Amino acid sequence: MRNLKSIIESPHPTIAGPCSAESREQVLTIAQRLAATGRVDVLRAGVWKPRTSPNSFEGAGDAALEWLREAREITGLPVATEVATAQHVRKATEAGVDMLWIGARTANNPFSVQEIAEALEGSQIPVFVKNPTSADVELWIGAVERLQRCGVENIGLIHRGFAGYTSVGNYRNAPLWGVALEMKRRMPHLRMICDPSHICGNREGLLSVAQQAADLDYGGVMIECHPTPDCALSDAEQQITPEELERLLGQIVWKSTSSDSTLCKSELERLRGAIDRLDEEIFSLIARRMDISDQIGAIKRQNNLTILQSNRWQEVVDRVTAHTQQLGLSKECTTKILNAIHLESIERQK
Ligand code: PEP
Ligand code: MN
Repeated sequence: MRNLKSIIESPHPTIAGPCSAESREQVLTIAQRLAATGRVDVLRAGVWKPRTSPNSFEGAGDAALEWLREAREITGLPVATEVATAQHVRKATEAGVDMLWIGARTANNPFSVQEIAEALEGSQIPVFVKNPTSADVELWIGAVERLQRCGVENIGLIHRGFAGYTSVGNYRNAPLWGVALEMKRRMPHLRMICDPSHICGNREGLLSVAQQAADLDYGGVMIECHPTPDCALSDAEQQITPEELERLLGQIVWKSTSSDSTLCKSELERLRGAIDRLDEEIFSLIARRMDISDQIGAIKRQNNLTILQSNRWQEVVDRVTAHTQQLGLSKECTTKILNAIHLESIERQK
């Protein structure tokens, strides 16, 4: 078996396997087909499945641990599964599972995470923490800190998207890249990998999401694969065959964060200098705008006027949007920036 530490520390490992371990035959088949691609580093499979509905398939349970052990023996691939309780941790570690992950639903619940963290005390096993389903960076950080306090040293992050944002594109769980990037910024020493399968909820979007992750300097991917995806007992719509995975992995372009070219370095330095100067100008202008908001706020208070005057605000939005459209800025970008400025302005007028 390849050394797990070296796999996890390699630039962008691939973790792949079925959403759920369904049968011995399914696990051994997928494991062998994934190993045959030569591109998979860790075999994943859910043993205990947290499902939205109790009428769904909830995993094969303890029996599947033995299938994973066999799969590892045959293919040499390290195996990973999801744990949601202390008992899962004990059973998985006793069965020799190489890597664990905490699922998104579990990451929402500090009691569960604490229980898992305590069960992991003294263990060297690598643990990946998926983002909670709610877009709450503090909750995600809290989950990591609970593990760290119990001495878990080898921790990674999995970005699998956030529930409830149905209007944000064609996703099962909207990626909200900004939330994940904030997590990366706050916990820069932890590897963040992307789970395009649960972000997309379909097969078509996988490459585009995986490529965005590669462009954002993620450290690998977790992708669900099944020998016969259409017949999968869970998450059938998003699973792909090992051969499709091989093609997809071949299309992702992983990039580096630095270059040896002096021309590239000097050009970037020059342009970044320009950006830094513009940022200073932008924020100086925003500060001047806020000064004026303060003066407007004082007049409104003296004259007993509401802070928000809807007609005036609509005029501002229309005028600025028309202007930025001419400048080639998207409506989405304009709205986000203008809203942030407006909210701060309202705050200062209170
Ligand atoms: C899974 O990986 O199959 C899973 C249940 O993921 P999540 O916790 O992201 O829903
Ligand atoms: Mn799944």
